[in-house]
Amino acid sequence: MPDFPVFLAHDHMQRAEDFQRDIDGGVSGKIVHLTVDSWIDAPTKEEYDHAYDSYEGFRDRGLGALTNLHAVASEPENNVRVAREFRDIETAAHMGQLAVIAGNEGGKILGYDPDLLEAWFGLGLRHVQLNWAMPNNLGASQDQENEPAQPGLTDFGRTTIDNMNEKGMIVDVSHSAPQTIIDALETTSKPILNSHSGGRSIADKPQNLFDDQIKAMAKNGGVIGVHFC
Ligand SMILES: [Zn+2]
Repeated sequence: MPDFPVFLAHDHMQRAEDFQRDIDGGVSGKIVHLTVDSWIDAPTKEEYDHAYDSYEGFRDRGLGALTNLHAVASEPENNVRVAREFRDIETAAHMGQLAVIAGNEGGKILGYDPDLLEAWFGLGLRHVQLNWAMPNNLGASQDQENEPAQPGLTDFGRTTIDNMNEKGMIVDVSHSAPQTIIDALETTSKPILNSHSGGRSIADKPQNLFDDQIKAMAKNGGVIGVHFC
């Protein structure tokens, strides 16, 4: 194990054997994205396409993934602790466990009612990345960047960020449209995360950040996880 903490800001691997590989590789903790705002492993292309523009099934799949995570963490031999507060991350380090923060890549699991966040919080969700590639109820995604009518962060998105700030949850703006990121930075009272984006000046790709966005993230005290796309 390295003598410094190593945290992954963005990962989807969530089986017991994946967590063991993390521990063996010296990872201290990570944010696990329970689901994505697209049904990645849909059984058929038709179901994948249908889910792309729909909210159907996302909450159930998110709940299923969170249930599995808690089941894995409940087996002591798996050495996994689901972090509900900062102290859990310290405890995990002391006990040689992997600290796992339950998160989601996209807001479809939150549905249409901002009060549902309370239930998700109670179940252990501590992170929400506002968007994936398609728009949702929280705000415009990267793919809408050049649409003049895109809303940026919606009222629902603003309420959700307020609620997340209040609960100490991690707001993640990776994959959001530039306007959504500007709005999120204006809305949040806490530092936010951009879990996986690169620099546009190096790689001109929608998910990547313009220099002024990187500076705005720094001013917020936030964190950017750099990917290599
Ligand atoms: Zn992603």
